[in-house]
This record gives sequence, C-alpha cells and structure tokens, in this order.
Amino acid sequence: MSITYPFTAVVGQDDLRLALLLNAVSPAVGGVLVRGEKGTAKTTTVRAVAALLPDVAVVPGCRFSCDPAAPDPGCPDGPHDPDPAGARRATKLVELPVGASEDRLVGALDFERALAEGVKAFEPGLLAEAHRGVLYVDEVNLLNDHLVDVLLDAAATGASYVEREGVSVRHAARFLLVGTMNPEEGELRPQLLDRFGLTVEVTASRETDERVEVVRRRLAYDADPAAFAARWAEEERRTRERIAAARALLPSVVLGDTVLRQIAATCAAFEVDGMRADIVMARTATALAAWAGRTEVTADDVRQAALLALPHRRRRNPFDAPGLDEQKLDEALEQARQEAEQAANDVDERPGPDDDPEPDPDPDGGPGPDGGPEGGPGGDGPGGGGGVPPQREDTAGPEAGDSAPDTGAEPASPQPGAGAGAAAGAEQPPSAAGEPYRTRALTVPGLGEGAAGRRSRARTAQGRTTGAELPHGRLAALHLTATLRAAAPHQRARGRAGAGLVVRRADLRQAVREGREGNLVLFVVDASGSMAARKRMVAVKGAVLSLLLDAYQRRDKVGLVTFRGAGAELALPPTSSVDAGAARLEKLPTGGRTPLAAGLLRAHEVLRVERLRDASRRPLLVVVTDGRATGGPEPLPRAARAARLLAASGVASVVVDCETGPVRLGLAGTLARDLGAAAVTLEELRADTVSALVKDVRRAA
Ligand SMILES: [Zn+2]
Repeated sequence: MSITYPFTAVVGQDDLRLALLLNAVSPAVGGVLVRGEKGTAKTTTVRAVAALLPDVAVVPGCRFSCDPAAPDPGCPDGPHDPDPAGARRATKLVELPVGASEDRLVGALDFERALAEGVKAFEPGLLAEAHRGVLYVDEVNLLNDHLVDVLLDAAATGASYVEREGVSVRHAARFLLVGTMNPEEGELRPQLLDRFGLTVEVTASRETDERVEVVRRRLAYDADPAAFAARWAEEERRTRERIAAARALLPSVVLGDTVLRQIAATCAAFEVDGMRADIVMARTATALAAWAGRTEVTADDVRQAALLALPHRRRRNPFDAPGLDEQKLDEALEQARQEAEQAANDVDERPGPDDDPEPDPDPDGGPGPDGGPEGGPGGDGPGGGGGVPPQREDTAGPEAGDSAPDTGAEPASPQPGAGAGAAAGAEQPPSAAGEPYRTRALTVPGLGEGAAGRRSRARTAQGRTTGAELPHGRLAALHLTATLRAAAPHQRARGRAGAGLVVRRADLRQAVREGREGNLVLFVVDASGSMAARKRMVAVKGAVLSLLLDAYQRRDKVGLVTFRGAGAELALPPTSSVDAGAARLEKLPTGGRTPLAAGLLRAHEVLRVERLRDASRRPLLVVVTDGRATGGPEPLPRAARAARLLAASGVASVVVDCETGPVRLGLAGTLARDLGAAAVTLEELRADTVSALVKDVRRAA
C-alpha cells in the first residue's frame, strides 16, 4: 500500500491508515486508538485520512448537522422539513483538546437568557460539531475523568445530553472516535479502551531505506510543490473512489460459518471480556473484505481483524505487555477452521447457537496466562521474567552492623557482620515483588486545586456543591439559590413588571464544588543491603507495587527515587505511566549502604522542579524505609536535616516503616517526626487490617 502522507517514516503507519480507512468504509467498526511514542506523526496521518472521508449531506443552517434525508426530530435547531437536497460539506475532523472544559465539549446553556428571558439558549459544543464526523483526541490518556465520562456516554447512546439547573438540551452525537496516546504517559481506563474499535501501535522507523525515501520526498516537494501535490492528489482521488466502492459493496459481504467460528474461537483464546470484541472483529473483517473488493470474508481478514481489534481488549491489568501473541492467534484460527470443516462434513452435527467455541485442543496447554511466552524482555539476570518469584537464598544478612557509622563510604565493600560476601554488599539480582494488595488511602491534607483524580480533597468542576461565589471568567456551574438571592433586592429598581425575575449578569453566582484531585506520589525507596538481605525487598516491592496500582486507579502521577550504595537515583521521573513505575521497580537492584539523606535530598530536588512544572499538582512523599542511614559521616543527623528541609517545604509525607523482627530501633518513627509525617508499617498499609482503621495519616505541621 502506498502512503498518502509523505513526510514520515513510521512503522505501523500502514496499519494506522488501514484502520482509519476501515472505519471510513464501515463506521460501525468503532474508531481507532493510536499508541506510540512522540514524533510518530500520528496526528498528521489521522488528518490526512480524515480528509479522504466522503462528504456528508446536511440541513443548511442546522448547527447539529442534521441529515436532510432524516432530520433529527429532537434537533435543537429543528424541526426541519424533510428536504432530500440539503447541502454538502466535507466530513469534519473536530479536535478535543485534553484540557477542554466540559462546557466546551457538551456545549453551554446561557443562564442569563434562560433565567431573564425564559429562552433556552444553547451554544453547541464539540460533540455537536463532531456529529457525523471524526472526534479526534490527541493524548486521550491524559483526558480528565469527567470528560471521559461524557465521551463514554455519548459513544454509548449516540447522543449528547446537557442539563443545567433544570434546563436541558439533547442532540445527536455520533462520531468516529480517534485517539492517540503515548503509553509511557499512562494507560486508559478500561471502559474507554473498550470504546475504541481498533488499536494500532506506531513507532518511529529505524530503517534506513524508509528514512531515505522520506527525505527524498521532502526534497521533491521543496523543489516543486505543485507537481508533488498533483501527484498525491491523484493518489488521494483513487483512495476516495475506493472508499466509496467499498462502502457500496459492504452490505453484500458474506461472513461464512467458518470465519464466524474463527472469530469466536480467537476471542475465546485471548480471553476477552463480553461480546464486543467478537462483534468488532466481525465488522472489521467484513470491512476488510469490502476494502479488498471481495464479497466473502476470508481467514486472512479474520487474522488481520484480530490483530487490530484484540490487543487492547485482552489486557487484564495495567502491567501486562501490549500486543498479540501471533502464534497463539494462528493456532486458534487453524483449530476453528478444522472444527468448522468437521462440522460441515458431519451431517448430523450442525453447530447450534449455543455451541461454545472449543477453546483448545489439549487441555494442559490451555489459554491460561501461564501459557504465554516464557522469559521476560531483556532477560538479564534471574527473576527478570514473569510473575513467579524465584526464591533466591540470600542469607547474607549484615543487619547488626549496618547502622553503625562506617566512614569508608565505599559501596562495594562488604559490610561487617556475617560473612556477607561481595555479592551481597554490592549489587544483588533484583528480587521479585510480592503480590499486590489493596492499600489504605493515603491523602494530602487540606484542599487542593489540582487536576481531577481520586485521591485528595480538592476544588473541582465536578463534585458536590459546597458554596457559591462570583464567577471567575465564564460561568461554569450556576448556583441558583445564590443567584436568585443576589437578584431579589434589585427587582423594584429594575422595574420588574411581568412574571419573570429580572436577572442581570452581575447576579450570577458560581457553584463552588468539591471533589477529588490526583496528586504526584513520589516514592523514596530504600534499596540498600539491609533491605535486601532480610528478604524484605519482596514485601517492600509488593507494597510499592500495591501503592502504584492504587495511584493508577486514583489518576496520580508517580515518581520513584531509590537510594543505595553511593547515593540516590531518580529511577523514574514523574510520569502518569504506572506501567513504567512497575517496570523500574521490577528491575530495581539492591545492596550496599543506606544513604538516606541523599535519597531525601534527591526527592526534595525532584519536588522543587515539579512544583515549577505544575504548581497545582500537590505532591505526596512516600518514604519506604526502616529509617536506618549508613555511609559518610553522621549519616543519621544528615538524614534528619534533609527530612526537616522537606518538612519546611510543606510537602505532605508518609513513612512506610519496613523494620521487622523482635528488636526494633524505631528509626522510621524518628524520621517521620522530622518529616512531619505519619508512619505506617507494611502491615498497616493493607486496607483490610484492623490497625489501618486506627491510624490516620495527617501532617503534623
Ligand atoms: Zn438539525
């Protein structure tokens, strides 16, 4: 397939183009999610293909793009008389900016006119504009929660419904949803993920040939833009014609019994939830056949449809790798084919409607999660792979000696105590993480104003109303009683005569609402020898993994600072990608001394930079440590000074105390006091323990 967008070299771009074209052929396919790093020209490609979509007929003057052949009876600009002629315009590509307000998306009601004149004045939003077109969301994974909810509603019902203080407007909103995301910046909510019919991965090309071709085209364009454009215009014209032909062919395409079985078997093999995947696959395969000019769906169509429709549906939790196991796919397809053949040969045995697709030939090689490819990516070191923790015997336990002030701050030197050996003193292979569990809620005290999320209390556009105020700029949510109260004293002066209240703009009051915000959860994790030696790291990693999962659900940003040996390291710069955090955690090396002060100072620096970047996102510092500090002169007093520095900066923090065993030094408690933090034990971190109910996380300052 040739490409229309000539200036990029991107792997997966043909897939992306195909996915978009299939939606053009059959809008029922349900949209495309484009996953890929930055600089892969995702937006350019989407725009280029959207420009190829056929024109639509609209009622002239209708702001809601009514189809003249069948105008929406409830159209706010209606009623329209049926008029087969109408006007034609190009299909729109409407971009939803990630930071858009809800009003911008769903439209806005003019309260002043509604109240003062009793007129329902509605200014359409992006959903109205996107009706019968493409709604494009760049970085859809960064979209605010409440916008996602609105999108999901519209996608599910094909309509947008706006209600403010008893005034409501409803209009049709059916659109092709196209989103892009950089997976490193965080995943999508499963409900939204499921709304995208297809998903495509794109990566920047490392192939020399492709890059050369791109440069060549660019030079050709610069040399003679007109000739170049003419050549591509011809290409585009052919594509438009092909879309129209495929659309016309689509109703005649037949989905045979064999391919239907293959679809069902594939969905079963990849353990997708519900029936949506089967349906999307069937539609995609049908569109593929039409696009190829065929009236029969082939096994190849099914295979291609699976590659486009299943990768995002088979994912079970945010830490699974993307993509589809193609070998497993081929096995499922082949087996379903054989079964269909057998069913056809066997005259007595017709496949009934409740015939379950046979999942697998041999019972022991089932499609369970363990049947996947063995060995993790990279595969460096033992335990780099799957979820089964290889129980290493790390008996080297320099526990008694490691809080002593050893001045030789050399990370590699074995510590005093039981013949630890160089391996334990320096770096040990990463230990596995314990099973994640539900953690109790850690929050930032006070009332924030950060991005919507599910952690700390905050003033938000959504949430329950707690008061009224004069609007700042445009009124977003009317506080009706406060508005009426403001208008009431002026009625006589304003010469009120009729039934309606005379309301002026100055009377309008904005509702003050309180909801939840997401925070920046910065973990500071002790990865020194003392933590590893006592096999504590499994529990500690399990705790951090649990907190990461919690952060994912609460829509936080996360960051990870670790300290061990000679100093501290920013293992994960603040990101919305919890996957990235889990991956770093998995590979986290342990061993060496315990430079606690360095870890705290590094955190202080990270938070300072993040405050500059986004002052409204309040941080929560989670220090995972037993409170010990070794290495360098006066390690404990230095750590205490670093802790007080953090406290002085006003950051809310929690110390997760990892000290175990019968004899405890209680150093984590001291650290917590210096930080102005609460201390919780690993045990108390679990949401389901009794002690979790007793402790309250509160900043002492
Ligand atoms: Zn209309």
